[in-house]
Amino acid sequence: MTQVFKFGGASIQDAAAIRRLGELLARFRARPLVVVVSAMGKTTNALEALLEAAREGEGDDYRDRLETLRREHLAAVESLFGTRTGPVTERVEALITELDRRHRRHAGRERSFHYDQTVCFGELLSTTIVSAWLEEAGMATQWLDARELVVTDDCHQAANVDWQATAERVRGLDRDDGRIRVTQGFIGGTAEGASTTLGREGSDFSAAILAHCLDAEEVTIWKDVPGLFNADPRRFDNALQLEQISYGEAIELAWHGAKVIHPKTLGPLQQKAIPLTVRSFQDLEAPPSTIGRDTRFDTQTPSLILREAQTLLEIRPRDFAFMDEARQHDILGRLVEAGLHAGLIDSGAMRLSLCLDGHPERLEPLVASLCADYAVARRDDLTLLTVRHADDALLAALGAGRDCLAERRNADTAQRVFPGSQCRGTWHIPA
Ligand code: ADP
Ligand code: ASP
Ligand code: MG
Repeated sequence: MTQVFKFGGASIQDAAAIRRLGELLARFRARPLVVVVSAMGKTTNALEALLEAAREGEGDDYRDRLETLRREHLAAVESLFGTRTGPVTERVEALITELDRRHRRHAGRERSFHYDQTVCFGELLSTTIVSAWLEEAGMATQWLDARELVVTDDCHQAANVDWQATAERVRGLDRDDGRIRVTQGFIGGTAEGASTTLGREGSDFSAAILAHCLDAEEVTIWKDVPGLFNADPRRFDNALQLEQISYGEAIELAWHGAKVIHPKTLGPLQQKAIPLTVRSFQDLEAPPSTIGRDTRFDTQTPSLILREAQTLLEIRPRDFAFMDEARQHDILGRLVEAGLHAGLIDSGAMRLSLCLDGHPERLEPLVASLCADYAVARRDDLTLLTVRHADDALLAALGAGRDCLAERRNADTAQRVFPGSQCRGTWHIPA
């Protein structure tokens, strides 16, 4: 049965990392194997900046950015292939030319469509280099264009998968012909042939889509951490690795903002009971984390998630009316229209509190529209802390010395909003 491996930007950020990826794949000889790869390093951010420069008039800024992208990718090719760069260089140059041509062709179109036709090149470039390098390292590969495999609608930048059409397109990829199938994460295509993207950090989801459609045996997501922890190990100095948790628990962690797995990844795997392994591409001996059906370990360790740069809105009717269903419906409808997600929603008789990502382009029009009809109190630069399976002592210790601006708690999840200034730096999970 097919194995699906996914490698993020950090695991292929430069030539040295791509070489290590080759060593890793030479060691894990599972076949059939589908390898899903993100753009190199921070290329997607660079492509977003390129798009903005292009939409502002394609001046020197655009040219400089395109040239930087070209140089960085060619530098990786030169470092990997030495004097034998010929065909790979040609392919990279052709992709850069195509990127330039495509973005011009679509410059007059709606921003999100233009975004998808431009930003998809990060993954096209990275997979071209990775696939050529694996061949060079003696592994037979087949490069596949994910825009022809993952069929989506035309909801650009957040495309929805057509599962049936995708299952038809991937049919046969689970045949073992000895080749590693290399394809792009994050990108898909409409039935009409336009490029689409699945949302930032969407490569994990791509791996899950392919695994689901291929009835894969397992998905492995290779990260710069040994596995899934009960808090971001970069922010919490004593975070603990969760060796085994259930799909449901992992979905909760990802949904609340644990930035290690894209939240949409788990559903398609859960439906077919395909286990997800999260492991380190840096330390191959480190014990991984496994996400599957087993729920036994879910409640053993409390998990903590920080979301920063939050804005809290306290919305009240102006006429002393209640915050009833009709008003909640009105306010949440405006939130949906603005394309914003509330990490915390809490209501009282005459109040609805929302904690939102402080995304200025979307937030400001929403606040303006709410202020026209409601009394709105606003606080910016906040931190939302979500704790799963906490007890009172842990919550009290985490809140000590911090002003709690809003909170919400149910049987398994507690959430608190603190001033961001009181939450900077490294955290320690109290014993
Ligand atoms: P990718 O290379 O796949 O894009 P990411 O950078 O998106 O990988 O995810 C890995 C990072 O996720 C880690 O470096 C870590 O700092 C962060 N992270 C956040 N929350 C967690 C968690 N609960 N467990 C492990 N890592 C976490
Ligand atoms: N390259 C895309 C991004 O940076 C997708 C991904 O890495 O998952 O968002
Ligand atoms: Mg990522």
